[in-house]
Amino acid sequence: MTDSVNSSARFLIVGPQGSGKGTQGVRIAAAFHIPVVSTGDVFRANVAAGTPLGQKVQAIIEAGDLVPDELTSEIVRDRLSQADAADGFLLDGYPRNLGQVSDLDDFLRGRDESLDAVIELRVPREESIARLSLRAQEQGRTDDTEEVIANRLGIYERETAPILGVYGERGIVDTIDGVGSLDEITDRIVAALEARGLIRTAAA
Ligand code: AMP
Repeated sequence: MTDSVNSSARFLIVGPQGSGKGTQGVRIAAAFHIPVVSTGDVFRANVAAGTPLGQKVQAIIEAGDLVPDELTSEIVRDRLSQADAADGFLLDGYPRNLGQVSDLDDFLRGRDESLDAVIELRVPREESIARLSLRAQEQGRTDDTEEVIANRLGIYERETAPILGVYGERGIVDTIDGVGSLDEITDRIVAALEARGLIRTAAA
């Protein structure tokens, strides 16, 4: 039982590549009527459209490296400043290292806001690799080659996993078993968020 409810819904979903965070992020955002802010999607759309930003980041993304923090944080600040993100949002893929955590903290503090929950999707490394190899065959993503996958998983372990320590100290991390059917995993996440008193409000 919880004795408090909170109508804001500011979430972050974190997990290694192949954990299903993109798919689950979309489902959770729909359930809470909030927009998904996915830095990976923003970068891929810009690469596909050949914009100046896309040209700047294409090689970085194809190598599976991280786009510089300054550029990434600016994109997120712009996106979170749009009206639909005023009462909630789900961040997918940002922050991805400690520098970005501090950029996001500064930005949210300026708005008197903070994250309500960080959803960590946990899957064994072999499972991530198997899912990514399948996605490579199905979608032909250029950052899904074996070498790039290994680079991305290494960066996750070195740079991204430590952000869970910081958020863990704030008591906002929910670690979710990411193995199971899509519906089972969504149900686990929703249950964890509801146990925090985070409620799904009606669509605006
Ligand atoms: P994703 O779809 O989240 O796996 O992102 C795809 C790629 O976009 C990553 O491998 C990075 O090259 C880049 N990217 C996405 N989010 C970030 C971020 N927060 N910081 C730096 N680079 C990022």
